[in-house]
This record gives sequence, structure tokens and C-alpha cells, in this order.
Amino acid sequence: MNVVFDKPTTRIIWFLLVMVIVTGCRRIRDTVNKPDVTTTKTGIEMVAIPAGWFLMGDDKGAADERPAHKVWISAFWIDKYEVMQEEFRKYQLPDPSHFKNPRNPLERINWTDAALYCNDRSRAEGLEPCYDEQTWQCNFEANGFRLPTEAEWEYACRAGTTTRYSFGNDVRKLKTCAWFVKNSSEKTHPVGQKKPNPWGLYDMHGNVTEWCNDYYSESYYKQGPDKDPKGPAAGEEKVFRGGAWNLGSVACRSSYRASDPSLNDTCLANDSIGFRCVRSEPNSAITLPNLGGKGDIMQVLKTGFVYDDIYLEHKTTPGHPESPQRLVAIVERLKASGLYSDGFDKPLRGKLTTGLFALTPEPAAMEWIETVHSPHYIERVKTSCKNSIAYLDSLDTPISEKSYEVALMAAGGVLTAIDAVMQKEITNAFCAVRPPGHHAMKDRAMGFCIFNNIAIGTRYIQKKYNLQKVLIVDWDVHHGNGTESMFYDDPTVLYFSVHQYPFYPGTGSRAEKGSGKGLNYNINVPLPAGSGDDDYLKVFREKLEPAALSFSPDFVLISAGFDACKGDVLGGMNITPQGFAQLTQMVKSIAEKCCEGRLVSILEGGYNLDVMSASVEEHIRVLIK
Ligand SMILES: [Zn+2]
Repeated sequence: MNVVFDKPTTRIIWFLLVMVIVTGCRRIRDTVNKPDVTTTKTGIEMVAIPAGWFLMGDDKGAADERPAHKVWISAFWIDKYEVMQEEFRKYQLPDPSHFKNPRNPLERINWTDAALYCNDRSRAEGLEPCYDEQTWQCNFEANGFRLPTEAEWEYACRAGTTTRYSFGNDVRKLKTCAWFVKNSSEKTHPVGQKKPNPWGLYDMHGNVTEWCNDYYSESYYKQGPDKDPKGPAAGEEKVFRGGAWNLGSVACRSSYRASDPSLNDTCLANDSIGFRCVRSEPNSAITLPNLGGKGDIMQVLKTGFVYDDIYLEHKTTPGHPESPQRLVAIVERLKASGLYSDGFDKPLRGKLTTGLFALTPEPAAMEWIETVHSPHYIERVKTSCKNSIAYLDSLDTPISEKSYEVALMAAGGVLTAIDAVMQKEITNAFCAVRPPGHHAMKDRAMGFCIFNNIAIGTRYIQKKYNLQKVLIVDWDVHHGNGTESMFYDDPTVLYFSVHQYPFYPGTGSRAEKGSGKGLNYNINVPLPAGSGDDDYLKVFREKLEPAALSFSPDFVLISAGFDACKGDVLGGMNITPQGFAQLTQMVKSIAEKCCEGRLVSILEGGYNLDVMSASVEEHIRVLIK
């Protein structure tokens, strides 16, 4: 390739940055802003409870409610309503309820059957069940549904209040918020008819009392930890919380605790006990330690960022545009913008950062590389690196000793991002990986690319997660000939490329439309050199959007090359960073309309460090929104 270096670069500063951060913050004490509600895959509404401190217990309450003590609760999701009979019946579980009505709370449910329901619901949503069905131990690390801890329950019930009830201390108001002995006519009622608490949760103070995960212990408050307490390790009886149709106003208080030694799991529980589920969701909100006091929440983290220093270990020849400096520039830019930092140490799959959810890549397993590359080629890459061969297949693609390992990590980073999206840790992700991939062929390296990261990701989505249709949007200035060739006759992958033409690698004419069953599932939009924001937006609006919406993908991937930037050292196009923001918005909207926003964007080219990293920042800002 004909490479030109040291073109002058421009640096642009974006003032909107501060506005975005400021509007992303809110306070939990401001209960006017209710937490977010989401509807799960199986149609159940859950409320996002923000992390925070609260005062658990009541010094004026019963002995087991004392002492009131400060407790930290991590973020989690909780059912907006008590589990209804119609939800329970979905899993072919026999409905034990006394007061039969599909929308009444389930009751006469024993604790283990409630736990079993949690597991069934987790499996139905593709999540890891929390309960061991032999021992009924709860695995809090699993991402499925479980019963709330007692502390989580009380925190959610109080919803930022410190009064006896979540509406204050005036017991006369209880009838507007709960079904209890004075207004229930001695029966349960359909959920959601009374006023919710300040966080939008219904029937916390009454209707049926609710199972918690903890064993009951009268003295636990004196010795329990102050961070996410989970109750004693063993015990006789489980705790239940909240008022019920047959209980008086005292039992409806936020801090009231109950257990019943006469209830054991071999019997039916009584007809005033039900439950609701929670799910740990550490990704839903972050509290900034020691910044502005307790209760300050940063924006919801929904965008993953794949990066690892290992990507710097793929060395190219001096002066080669595809250099480790590209990723250094991106990371520096994101750090300077406040989007990315190493400041928080809370472990999850990666680190929590101020704006992005950092994902640590793992090398892709051979079975996934082999979905698009021949074993012979993979072996050749490996031995070439080991034998210190300087180039792979052409002078375009210099390699170094670790290039094979790094290339496995580049593909692996994409798979890590896909996993995190599929496990709903994040909605979308940007993978700052190298070497890039879209020119790599089945058995040949090409144009700086070794393994075709996006093609491997596509097959991974289809095979591992059983999703059928993948849309690949390739806006790199070059045509992604490798990707095109891998899916040319495949109607399950819509490949859409807009690129400079004629240009390297020479392919990408309009006439390449796919073949066989894949005919019309390959769309090339060649543009002349000098095209800019308006030209690209027009193409996205007129060509990409209708094709993508009619295809209706289950997952969207972007071959995000930023070498169509104005001022790139290889490309001759004129897209501005704002232009990339608009293109990103259009692709993101497609993902939102078709597949719940599932989108992973993968770095390809982009060789003007300043403009490229500014464009990456704008790209990510749109993904985060
Ligand atoms: Zn390129």
C-alpha cells in the first residue's frame, strides 16, 4: 500500500462533554426521580434499585429490630409487584394459592418452592440459577433471580425514608398504600392497586408478607456486616417481611421482621405469605465513594470497553500506520475526557469506570477462530510468529513474535464483549483491539489484518447464543473484502459496506451482491474520494436503514474503521467526529428497533491519531447515551 505519513492533524475540543456528565448524575434522595423500570424477557417488570447506605432497623421497634444500624446495599433489581399466580403457573408449578385469581399474589408458597420458581425464571431468561436444588444454598455471584436479602428488602421498602412507613409515620395513610387487616375484607387483592412507595414498588406494606433469603436471627443486627448483609450462615427458619391482608398496622412497618417456627418446608405455608424476586445488577448504577456524600449515582453503565495492554505487543515496522500508538491515543483520549479511568476497584468481570464498563479480554478458543479460518492458516500464523518471520503473506502485514497471541486476544476481545451483552451486563460495547480484521481471508492475511475479528464474532453469536441473523455495518474507508468473502452466500448475515472506491483492496463494487441463498445479503456502497458527513448520512438513511430494518437482525456489529476521517493518512474521505456520532446513532437505532440494542463495535482502521481518537470518543458518547 502507498502510505503517506505526517500529514498535519487538527485537534477539536468538545464542549458538550461536561453537559453529558452533569445530566447523567442524579441523587437517590431526590425521590421525585423514580428509579428505572425494565421489563424482563418473560414480561415481568423490575425496578432498578440504586446502591446506597440506609438505616436498617428501628431503635423504637421490637427487640429484633434493634439496634438501628447503617448498612450498605449494592445495586439490584427487584420485582415491581409481588409474584402473581399467573406468573407462577407459567412454569407448570402447581399453584398452591388459597385466594385464586391470576393477578393476585401467589400465597401458601413454601420457601423452597419460591426458590425453585426463582431458578425456573432464571433458566427461562437464559440466566444462571442462584439456588443449588439439593442444598438450597444461594449463589450470590450467579446472575439469575433469587429472593431478596432481608437488608435488600428493607432498603427497597424504605426507598430513602427513615420513617416507620415509606409514606411517613401517620398510620392513617396505611390504607392507601397497603391491604391489611382493616381494609382487606380478609383476603388478598390483585397486585398494584394501592399507592406504590417512593421507588415505585407496590404492596410492600401489605397484601401478602414476603419471603426473604435470610435465616432469621433475633440478634443478627448486633453482629452482621455493614456491607450487603446476608443473614446468618445457618438457622431454622427463614425471614419474611412486610404486612399482609390478615396483619395489623404494626406488622406493616418497614422494619418489622417475622419468622414462624411452626412453618417448615414440608407443610404448605399459610395463605398470607408470598414473595417477590430480585436480581443482582452491579452494572446498573454506581455510587462514587467519597464524592459528594452517600447516594450520588453516576450514569447507568451500559457500554463496555474492551482494551488490554497486550494489544500493544503486536509490533509493526517503524513508521507503519497500523501501530500500537493508535490504541495508546484512544485510551489517552478517553482518560482525558473522563470516560475511562482506572479509579474504581470494584471487581466484576472487569473494572467499573466512570463512564465505561471495562472488559478484560481473553484469547479466543481455537474452535471459534476455525469457524472462519482454515486450520492450516492458523498454524501458519503461529509458526510464522514463532520463527520471527517479518511479514505475513504480503508487505502490508508485518508481524512480530507475539502477533499470534495478540491476534487471538483481538478476536477474543470481541467474544468477551458479545458475552457481556448477551449476559446483559451491558447493552453495547466498543472493542479497542488490534490487529484489525476485516481484510483477513479464510487462509490469508491481508491489509494489516490477521484474523477476521468481526467474522469470528458473527459465528460466535450464531453458534453459541443461537441467534440467527447478524448485521455487519462496515464503515472503514476500505472495503472489507475478507468479511464479504466469508458470508457471500449466507443469508443469515447481512454485510453492508460503505467505502472509498476505487481504492484498496480493489473489491467492493455495487455488483457484488452475494450469491446463491446469500444473494442481496451483501450490499456495497462505493463512494468517490472526498465524500463527507452528508454523503455518508444519505447512504445510511437511504440504503442501510431500509435494508437493515427489513432484515431485522438479532445482533448488530460494526466494523468501525476511522480511516474515513477527514485528515486520515491513508483514506481520502472527510467524515468529521460529529459525522461519526450521527452514523453511530443511526446504527444504534437499528439495534434498538430490532434487537434490544445489542451492538458491538470493533475497531478496524484509522491512522490519524488525533482525528481518529476524537472520532472514537464521539462514537462512544453516542453508545453510552
Ligand atoms: Zn481501513
